[in-house]
Amino acid sequence: MSSAVTPMMAQYLEIKAEHPQALLFYRMGDFYELFFGDAVAAAEALDIALTKRGKHEGDDIPMCGVPVHAAEGYLLTLIRKGFRVAVCEQMEDPAEAKKRGSKSVVRREVVRLVTPGTLTEESLLEARRHNYLAAWAEVRDECALAWVDISTGMFHVTQCPPVRLGPELARLSPRELVVSETKETDLADIAAEAGAALSPMSRGSFDSTGGEARLTQLFGVGSLEGFGTFGRAEVSAMAAIVAYLEITQKGKLPLLRPPMRESADRVMQIDAATRRNLELTHALSGGRDGSLLSAVDRTVTAGGARLLERRLTSPSRDLSVIQARQESVAFLTENTRLAEDLRADLKRAPDMDRALSRLGLDRGGPRDLAAIRNGLIQAQAVAERLSGDFPEGLAQASARLTGHDALIDHLDQALVAEPPLMLRDGGLIAPGYDEDLDETRRLRDEGRGVIAGMQAEYAGEAGISSLKIKHNNVLGYFIETTATHADRMMSPPLSDTFIHRQTTANAVRFTTVALSELETRILNAGARAQEIERRLFGALRTEVIDAAGEINETARALAEIDVAAGLADIARSEDWCRPVVDDSRAFEVGAGRHPVVEQALRRQGAGPFIANDCGLSDGDGAATWLLTGPNMAGKSTFLRQNALIALLAQIGSFVPAGSARIGMVSQLFSRVGAADDLARGRSTFMVEMVETAAILNQADDRALVILDEIGRGTATYDGLSIAWATLEHLHQQNRCRALFATHYHELTRLADQLDGVTNATVAVKEWEGEVIFLHEVRQGSADRSYGVQVARLAGLPHAVTERARVVLDALEEGEREGGGRAKTPLDDLPLFSAVPPAPPAPAPKGSAVEDRLREVHPDQMTPLDALALVYDLKNML
Ligand code: ADP
Repeated sequence: MSSAVTPMMAQYLEIKAEHPQALLFYRMGDFYELFFGDAVAAAEALDIALTKRGKHEGDDIPMCGVPVHAAEGYLLTLIRKGFRVAVCEQMEDPAEAKKRGSKSVVRREVVRLVTPGTLTEESLLEARRHNYLAAWAEVRDECALAWVDISTGMFHVTQCPPVRLGPELARLSPRELVVSETKETDLADIAAEAGAALSPMSRGSFDSTGGEARLTQLFGVGSLEGFGTFGRAEVSAMAAIVAYLEITQKGKLPLLRPPMRESADRVMQIDAATRRNLELTHALSGGRDGSLLSAVDRTVTAGGARLLERRLTSPSRDLSVIQARQESVAFLTENTRLAEDLRADLKRAPDMDRALSRLGLDRGGPRDLAAIRNGLIQAQAVAERLSGDFPEGLAQASARLTGHDALIDHLDQALVAEPPLMLRDGGLIAPGYDEDLDETRRLRDEGRGVIAGMQAEYAGEAGISSLKIKHNNVLGYFIETTATHADRMMSPPLSDTFIHRQTTANAVRFTTVALSELETRILNAGARAQEIERRLFGALRTEVIDAAGEINETARALAEIDVAAGLADIARSEDWCRPVVDDSRAFEVGAGRHPVVEQALRRQGAGPFIANDCGLSDGDGAATWLLTGPNMAGKSTFLRQNALIALLAQIGSFVPAGSARIGMVSQLFSRVGAADDLARGRSTFMVEMVETAAILNQADDRALVILDEIGRGTATYDGLSIAWATLEHLHQQNRCRALFATHYHELTRLADQLDGVTNATVAVKEWEGEVIFLHEVRQGSADRSYGVQVARLAGLPHAVTERARVVLDALEEGEREGGGRAKTPLDDLPLFSAVPPAPPAPAPKGSAVEDRLREVHPDQMTPLDALALVYDLKNML
């Protein structure tokens, strides 16, 4: 290092070297300053000015800074943009450093590493969403995923072989994934796909033996057995999380709840593609509007919203759990008044989980204490409404709401109604709580009043009505009388009390022991009041933290009641029914609707949503529906609504249908053919095939599969054959319940050959050559695809649709002539059994468009070719 490096720069470089992955927020007075590359990156990301400060090895040092009081906003932006930030504070008063010598720099330390997965600040978090930090570990053949939300203390772990990592990350969408540094490159893609920042750690952090010790110490237990039986990989993943927290929180560990082990067979398995297609938590457009979650979320608390999201992303497979939840929802749909009262109480309950976590990390303020107080008070109110005879779920939740009387009383007496945000603002402790504090505040606030009282007292004692207590900067407070009283004041008995300080031309000035004591007290009162408040805050904080486990339980119970009341609300207002969920393989939905589309149609003032039935039970076996019908008829909507109904049923909700019986679904799969994604290039077909392969390899006989236009991303022959074989495999090998939408009419023949395959179609009506969508799903197959009519609706030029109709007629004619049974299924496909004859009576001298169309062999075209053709035709006009 060159000798030109200033001591401060030397300190900076040393600290920065320890945090190469993070932007270093280096505290200098009222600013956090960033230097070198950090400054360049931050200035760009934050859109703030980049300046320079001094030189390093002959070059200017780039610099930018953010004011400390506004730092949270900047932090948020940086974290959202994928940065980590090391916050480096001044650990001593600059005056202290000066004392050590003029060259001394203020001692600084990184007090915290802010990363996407370790946020606790209200302003950095989304209230209604979890913020997970996950860690994946591999020990020999075992693999596990642990995840924690440090802003609520929830801590989970599950076995997770590599193939399940993607789906699990899709389920949880953690903000950050901790992995062993040896795995960093392998897992980069999977983490990026899930939108999680990858944080590599040394292999030692994953050591399961050391890890067990770390965990038992954290939870203050002799062994982890009390929490369940954990495999070595599970311990390793959990330990890595704790190690990561130790590093980022610089030794302060958040309040974590004992780890809960989740086993895969207790929840409905849903992979990433299915979650996307079904738009469970995000719409395909990316936002939350239009997702299932946003359509069903009527919760009124942040904790309730988080719980609902958890349930929706992990529907249960435990019949008793589902039924207990249904009971609560059903009860609240029937007892509207109670439900409304509960929701009114809940609305006033603050987010206790997050307040508690901030208090635990010593980042909490007075408002966090108030949040606990108000939350516990609301919990009591809720419990009172739920005392008596209630369904088990509600009764159990209610029992966890109370038992905090002492803490509530204490907080209630101690805190003012609306405490300030920051402890240093003072004024959080209520009057009457602490005598010392009251007195101190009285001195501070009413100093002059106290002095006035004293003045009256002394005037009486001395018998001098003109005696005054005054203040100046030299003497501070003093007692003054006119010079005429000097002698008397300075002789006994008055001289016992009054101590002479000064004589001026007209006046004599005194002090008393009591006055100088009072003075010191007044002067110190402000600082002292703050100190007492700090001490009392600390004591209250400890008291709250000691009760953290019970408070978490209460918060959780409030969330459960909120979710039940929210689901009851939507069930009632949207006229949903209580589904029968059982262990069978039934799937019977009467008058089902798509909850999101239905709400959207209503908002747009469009026509009503047409309800449709679906029955996928065939005796004891599972059945498949093969759905045909023109584009835009409502096939995708129908498919998805049935998947969503199964999912809602298994979170314990009512469902958008007139009636429903759902045999427990183990796995839910949904795939959409890639043709919609032409613009994204041909590789989408590959993706589609990979995803379809995953279903065929994984779906068991309890799975529910919906396939929408599988195979359409390739040439017609290929697509049809793939669709054909897929359907056969699903039906005969996987033996699962399936809904299969296709525009290959040829597939409808399968229904004749395979038991349990039923043809259904979405009805349309043709009227004066126009197609009218009825959105009614009926048994049978579509007589034709109406593609030409739909093309016209889409605005294809009249000349083209007219010509297309002629071509179509010709093709259909050819089909009828060339028909006849053949041996193999492919030969059996009449459309291709013969090369279509030339159109019967070609127009004598065609236009360029007609000529071009005449050359076309639609069946041998890929969708891309077809699109190119449409462009060609358009250009010829
Ligand atoms: P497809 O998959 O057959 O091309 P979609 O399922 O995408 O058709 O439906 C097209 C549009 O039709 C939807 O956006 C919706 O507005 C409307 N729609 C679908 N199903 C219904 C229904 N059951 N009732 C009313 N409108 C519907």
